[in-house]
Amino acid sequence: MLYCTKCQRLTEGEKCPACNRSRALRQPRADDPVLLCTVRYVLAAMIEPLLEEEKIPYAKHTLGSSALLGGVSFLENYAFYVPYAAYAGALELLTGIFAEDDEVRMALREAAGVEGEN
Ligand SMILES: [Zn+2]
Repeated sequence: MLYCTKCQRLTEGEKCPACNRSRALRQPRADDPVLLCTVRYVLAAMIEPLLEEEKIPYAKHTLGSSALLGGVSFLENYAFYVPYAAYAGALELLTGIFAEDDEVRMALREAAGVEGEN
């Protein structure tokens, strides 16, 4: 697992899924902020209390209306970042809770750079 210092994302491969480069990749450190997922407001409002309840430190960034994700633009999105040390736990938490929610599962996969149906 490598970490892109530019995009703050993890990747399984040798290129960052966001910037498609390897230049900024290095081994992740425990306190590196990692993109957990990018979701719409309604989902962000559900995810936030879950992270708080589990005492997972996170940062929430509001993305502008021009944000482009996978070629699709969303009106308003929120990006959640967690420290690398907390990433696996946060991913497991949300994957479990949103097991039936395609949108959240896709957002988690997309942030992790997992190739899949778009
Ligand atoms: Zn990158």
